[in-house]
Amino acid sequence: MSPAPIASTSVTPTPGKAHAGHNQHGFATKAIHIGSEPSAETGAVIPAISLSTTFKQKSVGDFTYEYSRSANPNRDALERALAALEGGRYGLAFASGSSVTATIVSALPPKSHIVSVNDVYGGTYRYFTKVATVAQGIETTFAELASADSELVEQNLRKAMRPDTKLVWIESPTNPTLRLIDIPLVVKVAKSINPETTVVVDSTFLSPWYQNPLSLGADIVAHSITKYINGHSDVVMGALVTNNSAWVEKLKFLQNSIGGVPSAFDSWLALRGIKTLAVRMQEHGSSALIIAKELAKHPAVKEVIYPGLPSHPSFQLAQRQISPRAFQKAIARGKAKGDGVEADGFPYGGMVTIRLASDPHDDQPANKVLERLQIFTLAESLGGVESLVEQPSKMTHAAVSQEDRDILGIGHNLIRISVGLEDVEDLLADLDQAFRAAGLA
Ligand SMILES: *Cc1c(COP(=O)(O)O)cnc(C)c1O
Repeated sequence: MSPAPIASTSVTPTPGKAHAGHNQHGFATKAIHIGSEPSAETGAVIPAISLSTTFKQKSVGDFTYEYSRSANPNRDALERALAALEGGRYGLAFASGSSVTATIVSALPPKSHIVSVNDVYGGTYRYFTKVATVAQGIETTFAELASADSELVEQNLRKAMRPDTKLVWIESPTNPTLRLIDIPLVVKVAKSINPETTVVVDSTFLSPWYQNPLSLGADIVAHSITKYINGHSDVVMGALVTNNSAWVEKLKFLQNSIGGVPSAFDSWLALRGIKTLAVRMQEHGSSALIIAKELAKHPAVKEVIYPGLPSHPSFQLAQRQISPRAFQKAIARGKAKGDGVEADGFPYGGMVTIRLASDPHDDQPANKVLERLQIFTLAESLGGVESLVEQPSKMTHAAVSQEDRDILGIGHNLIRISVGLEDVEDLLADLDQAFRAAGLA
């Protein structure tokens, strides 16, 4: 296999180094052009979909592409774009976000130990506890790392780490209660205990527009492309980006050996989605902020959780951790409105979680609201152009025990909203009529 298909062309940025090509360009420019260079052969502005499974060799072993599981032009283009958007050297795409998790864990030696944030994505929890344990004898310790109290986070992490800890797995914001993890703090503490520890951040909820974990010290950033990156609820796919060449060699080998790779068509669709990621994320964020602020005043709502609101316990951390480009847009927006971000809040992703003013042990009020909504679709998943709502206690987090749900604050009155790109006035009116119909206002 020639080395070319690892995202190693001149347009892939090298951190900390000025570069030719698109490296000096902004996020949206990269998103539109990297991986979508006009075809040298036909001049086509949009890349062709390369469905071929195999490729002609000039002589034995002389080829650019060999076989589409190992590398494919569409996947290659997507991987280069993803690496550029995360500011990393290497991007690898997989058939799902779950396949990313499985592949990273498969790279660990048998009987390794993992420290994971306690309210990790359910599928990740399932993989650690039901698959990695059986297949590799891996043990996972779940730790509370999302407190706004940094001393407590450090204490909890020190308590959880062991001499055989190979991986620290975090997710920020967490799901569904949108708690934030101080990524540089976790990296600092983990590496001070053992510099060899690998820190992985699942950054699905923010997308590369709002958060770039590699720039915060993480070793690997993981995404479910299924959500914001593709953004149109029509592709299941995942990816990881890293600067670590030892890790990428292992992961690239496993990507090909396990074979959990995306199709050429899905890769093409995801790259098409990426071209509008910057505008989509800004609009998701500003609508989410408007909805969060309006619902905070609504009598049917007891509590709104949105990290861009001053009422969020990690509001200061959100400001430190958000990508500088997204924060500059937020500041410009605040200035235009005459308020600073301190008073007005700022866009921080498109997810808003609310607690209804109803009994957390009664599932009926939330159920009624969800049934009555007309624009919001009652469905799992997130990050698409259409607004979605769900009741975590009965849907995404139904497998979590009642006891753990109580600890994590996931009552029946909790509703998770993925704010889409419809007119925000329509979304607000829809929520209001559903609250009224459910007798909550
Ligand atoms: C959806 C999701 C995953 C899993 O991704 P799939 O593409 O569904 O396999 C992992 N992490 C988070 C945070 C997710 O939201």
